[in-house]
Amino acid sequence: MKKITLIMTVLLLMDFTAAFAWGPKGHDVVAAIAEQHLTPKAKRKINKLLDGQSIVHYASWMDNIQNSPYWQYGYNKTKTWHYANVDKGYTYETMPKNPAGDVVTGLEFLTKEMTENYKELTDSMKVDYLKMIIHMVGDLHCPSHAGRLSDRGGNGTKVQWFYEKTNMHSVWDSKMIESAKKWSHTEWCNYLDRSDRKTRKAIVQGEYVDWFKATVIEAANFYEYVESMEKEMPNLSYQFVYDFSPTLERQLIYGGYRLAHVLNTIFK
Ligand SMILES: [Zn+2]
Repeated sequence: MKKITLIMTVLLLMDFTAAFAWGPKGHDVVAAIAEQHLTPKAKRKINKLLDGQSIVHYASWMDNIQNSPYWQYGYNKTKTWHYANVDKGYTYETMPKNPAGDVVTGLEFLTKEMTENYKELTDSMKVDYLKMIIHMVGDLHCPSHAGRLSDRGGNGTKVQWFYEKTNMHSVWDSKMIESAKKWSHTEWCNYLDRSDRKTRKAIVQGEYVDWFKATVIEAANFYEYVESMEKEMPNLSYQFVYDFSPTLERQLIYGGYRLAHVLNTIFK
């Protein structure tokens, strides 16, 4: 009986993780790239708020704290702020909005608070909002966080990953990055962070909504790919990793440079 309870708990936790996370590795890589491009001033101010910890340390904090009483009390409203769903035939603008908010509106709110309303925030709010922004800019670039509402952001569409049963959401959250290279976040960061200043400047143009709309296109490409396989529970493996590695790398690089840009703008 105990064993069954344990298995059920593990399964529940797995399902929960599947619903929310880029997976720690993706978030760590985005934050590690961003950390390389913070201005000295932003670095100093962030250091103070995070008590000397790296932003990488808090990259997945928002996923991990979701079920704590602290979070339930203060930030329950942020549960839907990790993603936005866009069904086939819709755009972010035409898709009916989640009244509880989404990753775009959540980031817009937090950024506004951290700039225009900074002086009104308590110290603990500043710290929490900063940690949330670090995490959510990562989510904004994860294709499974821009999936369709009709299959709960890919959670409802079953696929196989190297002949193991999973779902579309998990492919982008963790399977893809873990299969593409057996690298740590620092190795990913060293490999990806090679753009010159001009390229980095071009990448950070636009607003949250523009960045998210590009993620929606990546998600739509993924749906199209899976649907073109025309069989139940298609198996994704080496060919998929080959075909979608450029997408993975681009989303991590973009997320990293843009997170640095957001933080440099807030802490200028
Ligand atoms: Zn998340």
